[in-house]
Amino acid sequence: MSRLFKFVKLSQQNVSCQAMNLNLQSRKWNFINGTPVAPTGHESFYLFEPSTGSILCQIDESSKSDVDAAVRAAQQAFKLWSRTSGLEKAEVLRNTGKLLRERSKELAVAETVDAGKPIWESKWDIQTAFDCFEYFAGLSPTISGQHIKLSGDNWAYTIRQPIGIVGAIGAWNYPIQIAAWKLAPALACGNTVVFKPSPLTPINTLTLAEILKEAGVPDGAVNVVQGQAATGQYMCEHPDVNKITFTGSVPVGKTISKIASESLKRVTLELGGKSPLIIFEDAVMKNAVNAALMGNFLSQGQVCNNATRVFVQESIYDQFVDMICEGVEKINVGNPHDEQTTMGALISEQHLDKVLSYVDSAAREGAVVVGGKRMKIGEGYFMEPCVLLNCRDDMKAVREEIFGPVMSVLKFCTEDEVLERANATKFGLAGGVFTENLARGHRVVAGLQGGVQWINNYNTFTVEVPFGGLKESGYGRENGLAAIEHFTELKTVLVESGDVWTPFD
Ligand code: NAD
Repeated sequence: MSRLFKFVKLSQQNVSCQAMNLNLQSRKWNFINGTPVAPTGHESFYLFEPSTGSILCQIDESSKSDVDAAVRAAQQAFKLWSRTSGLEKAEVLRNTGKLLRERSKELAVAETVDAGKPIWESKWDIQTAFDCFEYFAGLSPTISGQHIKLSGDNWAYTIRQPIGIVGAIGAWNYPIQIAAWKLAPALACGNTVVFKPSPLTPINTLTLAEILKEAGVPDGAVNVVQGQAATGQYMCEHPDVNKITFTGSVPVGKTISKIASESLKRVTLELGGKSPLIIFEDAVMKNAVNAALMGNFLSQGQVCNNATRVFVQESIYDQFVDMICEGVEKINVGNPHDEQTTMGALISEQHLDKVLSYVDSAAREGAVVVGGKRMKIGEGYFMEPCVLLNCRDDMKAVREEIFGPVMSVLKFCTEDEVLERANATKFGLAGGVFTENLARGHRVVAGLQGGVQWINNYNTFTVEVPFGGLKESGYGRENGLAAIEHFTELKTVLVESGDVWTPFD
């Protein structure tokens, strides 16, 4: 089988121009108390453009005293923001959505420069960000407690109060979406925030903080600091941070959980996955193939809930393999700024090497590898989308999260067998099933151990539905009504209308 991948030749000049327009060299990368300020840490890191491999700028890390200043600003702002009515907060969040819509083109270009993802996808990500602000604008005035009738004239009520200062730490694969998913509900609930984006993709979080200010968020309610593990860890240890909301890998999630347990800080963890997609013989094949493509090659496969283990029933295995290979051949890898490109560059040289080493290990363990080679397109971090055939459950590439454009295809016979194999993982983020037998569809997703499940589709998202994992994929939920529970505390008030009874009187 010849496996030729179309790609659009990268215009280095064009992309550099896009990067230069962002004025990255002159930006002040901390945003504290409503003002951009230069970080004062002694360490610094380079920001690389994944599609060209070129250095965009050098960013100084935030020092501990920068983080302290951000937390202090958030504490000051909390006094005002936590007492702001739901309707007033809604107006600010709606304004944010409007500004994001107006600036969506420019933000999408910046997202593509920063994350290497194709421009069509960046536009989609910006939309998910303004959807999120508009959704939580709608919810903000509805956040309320409960009235509970007690005996006689007595009664009780509950208050949903903000938690306080939220420390938010993001991953690099969905920079603006992750920022929106954390900032919009946190603010809607009356919290104030110190946000640390991934050092690999800090651009749009900073821009979003500026947009939030323009939309009417009071100074200090949203602060941005920069840095790597040490900065994130300091935020988690900070005694005045009341909650950590984290998106990232399982090992770092475990570290954060341990640190936070010292002070019983509230924590939400959105971590990694190795999700199954189960395709039964009665599935509509074209839809199942499209879903497997969506479930593996969005954002160069760097998606936490991707369906990287595709289980296909024995009788349709060969047909599926032919169709999926045909589908993968049509993927356009190349300049992510080109509208025709469907897959861009991986995030870094180091990450590309890691993904390629998984492809090598699968080959050594007996998989048939389709694609999966490094692509020379300028100095960018490109690779061919990859399908691993003849896979076994015990292969390293099938067990571990690769976080790249690598799909493992596995054969199964019966429903009971596939359910057991699909659940034999420490992860529990997502899953999906394709079948025309709806009873079976519901039965299978009920049995799958993952926080988000699809029947007859995959990787469709919308802010109205809760998102989050089971098992080592984390805890807590983002989006939907569920997010409100994770950004508020519940207080109970008991009201006595008569005299106080006691046996001690
Ligand atoms: P990572 O865990 O390496 O880093 C995530 C963030 O944590 C970064 O901002 C990093 O600087 C910071 N950090 C690193 N060490 C820290 C420490 N000791 N204390 C505090 N902060 C620390 O993850 P990544 O490589 O940026 O992202 C990829 C991972 O994220 C994958 O495993 C992916 O599955 C996961 N992810 C999950 C979701 C989800 O919603 N479940 C979404 C996107 C990505």
